[in-house]
Amino acid sequence: MPIRVLDHQTVARIAAGEVVERPASVVKELLENSIDAGSHRIDIEIKGGGAGLIKVSDDGCGILSDELPLAFARHATSKLSSFDDLSSIGTLGFRGEALGSIAAVAEVEVTTAVSGSPSGKMMSLRGGRGDIVRPIARACGTTISVSHLFREVPARLKFLKSDTTETGHIVTVVSNYSLAYPEVRFKLIVDGRDTLMTPGNGKLRDTAIEILGHHVAARMIEISAVDGSFSIAGLVSAPENSRANRTGLFLFVNRRWVRSHILSRAIEEACHGLLTVGRYPNAIINLRLPPSDTDINIHPAKTEIKFREDGKVFEFVRQAVRAALLGEAPVPSLAVAA
Ligand code: ADP
Ligand code: MG
Repeated sequence: MPIRVLDHQTVARIAAGEVVERPASVVKELLENSIDAGSHRIDIEIKGGGAGLIKVSDDGCGILSDELPLAFARHATSKLSSFDDLSSIGTLGFRGEALGSIAAVAEVEVTTAVSGSPSGKMMSLRGGRGDIVRPIARACGTTISVSHLFREVPARLKFLKSDTTETGHIVTVVSNYSLAYPEVRFKLIVDGRDTLMTPGNGKLRDTAIEILGHHVAARMIEISAVDGSFSIAGLVSAPENSRANRTGLFLFVNRRWVRSHILSRAIEEACHGLLTVGRYPNAIINLRLPPSDTDINIHPAKTEIKFREDGKVFEFVRQAVRAALLGEAPVPSLAVAA
């Protein structure tokens, strides 16, 4: 075959695969945008495991109507202006890839209004191209509906699991962001049924009660420590409320949901001797450290984090969680070892 330059739509669909792997990735990106927009209330509605419909509504700052088409352009962002800003990024998004990627592999309808504007705007996109921008009445905020996800990308559609499994991934995403942002009221409706609703009162324990259940969350022990520019806050389960797998860890760095072997291992180490072998803790950890000590720009989905000083992070987290556990239920022989 001769060498050819791929057409715009093909390039967009291939690149979208990096960001949008499954319906839960769409939910994650839309939630991050709503949080970055300063929302207090975020409503999520899904149908058919998210492949049918994903609708996220927020009461955030809205998108200026002139900028609406630009929001869906690739590498268009209001959050980063130069490469140097990357080291001090304070928002969840910064790549300007999500909306463009989603629009490349689904049908999208967006309505949005900014505060003080007499009316909002609506735009729909098919095949990555926006067709109509027309005025509509709505309160300040943004609603994005994503339907027919991957309909034009059969290879991707084929790899989706059952609706129940895909819904499970979405519940995980919403649970994590709820715990990272207890001051935001999240509501999730699955196939018309209310599935999750957090209080949005700013209290981590109240949010944890909704996510982990009263029997676990009410007894969780507070973690709180500061060391120079590092700080940690969160909750860890009492040893008797352990679980048989690692699914009870909710890890955030600078309020960003992350995957990190360093952090999970530090928490498990902290529980050493307190839990029987094969049992794992429930823990919600928000670690704060200077953004320049981290690198979140490793993967487009931005979940895998790298630390500049792994050993220091590991020790700080291990000791903070250990101190919390021992403070609540001192075990003299172990306290010496710690
Ligand atoms: P990024 O979040 O990396 O900037 P996105 O493609 O996710 O890139 O979004 C592009 C831009 O669209 C954002 O920078 C923001 O200005 C705007 N935007 C997207 N979603 C929202 C929202 N829910 N509320 C307000 N503005 C939004
Ligand atoms: Mg974004």
